Amino acid sequence: MKYLEEFRDPALARGLLDDIRATVTRPWALMEVCGGQTHTIIRHGIDQLLPEGVELIHGPGCPVCVTPLEVIDKALEIASRPGVVFCSFGDMLRVPGSDRDLFRVRGEGGDVRVVYSPLDALRIARENPDKEVVFFGIGFETTAPPNAMTVHQARKHGIRNFSMLVSHVRVPPAIEAVMTSPDCRVQGFLAAGHVCSVMGTAEYPDLAERHRVPIVVTGFEPLDILEGIRRTVRQLERGEASVDNAYPRAVRPEGNPAARAMLEDVFEVTDRAWRGIGVIPLSGWRLSERYRDQDAEHRFSVDGITTKEPAECRSGEILQGLLKPNECAAFGTRCTPRTPLGATMVSSEGACAAYYLYRRLGAPAAAPLEANPVG
Ligand code: SF4
Repeated sequence: MKYLEEFRDPALARGLLDDIRATVTRPWALMEVCGGQTHTIIRHGIDQLLPEGVELIHGPGCPVCVTPLEVIDKALEIASRPGVVFCSFGDMLRVPGSDRDLFRVRGEGGDVRVVYSPLDALRIARENPDKEVVFFGIGFETTAPPNAMTVHQARKHGIRNFSMLVSHVRVPPAIEAVMTSPDCRVQGFLAAGHVCSVMGTAEYPDLAERHRVPIVVTGFEPLDILEGIRRTVRQLERGEASVDNAYPRAVRPEGNPAARAMLEDVFEVTDRAWRGIGVIPLSGWRLSERYRDQDAEHRFSVDGITTKEPAECRSGEILQGLLKPNECAAFGTRCTPRTPLGATMVSSEGACAAYYLYRRLGAPAAAPLEANPVG
C-alpha cells in the first residue's frame, strides 16, 4: 500500500471485520488511547460495525482535553499582561478556563496569536525584542520534540525574550493509571502509533506483562484501526498479553533517537495533573533545571491560582472511559462546539467534539460500509 485511500478501502475493511467476527467468542472492552483514533472510529462508524460485545472505550489521548485547568488559567494570566505576545495553536483559544478563554483575553486587548509551529513563536520573538513572547507548549510525546527543539534554538541563538508555558504529558503513565483505577474495564489497548514513532515501544512490555493486557501499536486510518482491533482480540482470545506493532510503516522499536535525545536534553519527567483526572505520577515533562529561565511559569511567577471546574461537565469520566459523551446531560444542549463547557467539546481530538461532529446525538447508527464507504 502506498496511498492514503488504500487504508480506507471498503473491501479490505470488510475482510478485517469478517476476521474479527470469526475470532471473537465473547465480549471484550478495548481502549483506543489517542483522540485522533477516536475521531476515525466515530467518523467511520467502526464501533458500530464490530461484533456485539466488542466495545471501544475512548481514552485520554487528547492533548487539549487533558491540559489542566490550572495551566489554562496560568496561560490566561500571562496572556493578559502588558508587553506579552502569547502564542498558541488555535485549539487552545476556545478551551474554557475558570472564567474565560484566550479569545476573551484577546477581545479585552491581550496580544494572543495563533501559530502553526513553535518556530513561528520564536520568529515573533526575534522580530519583537521589546516584547516577551510566550509559546503554549502542550501535548504528548508527539508535540514535545519540536517544542524542545524550539527552546534549544532560543538558547542557542540568545533569544532571551522567548519562554514556554509547558504542560506536556506522557502516555505510559496514563495507561498505568487506567489499569490501576478501581473502575477499570479495559482489557486491551490500541496504543497511539505517532507517540510510538517518537518513543519506540520499549516502555510497553512491562505494562502489558504486569497488567496482563495486550497493547497493540495502532495507526489512524480505518484499516489501521481495524487491524489493531483484530490483533488485540486475537491476543485476548488466546489468553496472550504482549506488545505488538501493527503500525510498522511508521514505528520502529527504538522510535526516533534524535527526537528522544532532544527531549532528554530539554525536559525532565515530573508528576502532572490531567484535567478531569487528577495527578498521575511521573506523567509529564517540564523544562529541566538548565532551561528554567525559559520556563514561563518561572519567568512570570504565576503561582497561587485557584481553579473551579464547571460541575456540569463530566469530561473527567469521559477521559477515563467511564462515560460516553452522549451520556452527559449537557451534551448537544448546554454544551456544543459553539458553547463548550469542557475541553473535550473544543478540541479537534476531543471525544465530545467527535460525537457532536459525527451525529452521535442519539441518532441512528452509521450506515454500513456498503452505503457509506470509509473515507
Ligand atoms: S458534553 Fe460538554 S459538558 Fe458534557 S462532558 Fe463533554 S465537554 Fe463536558
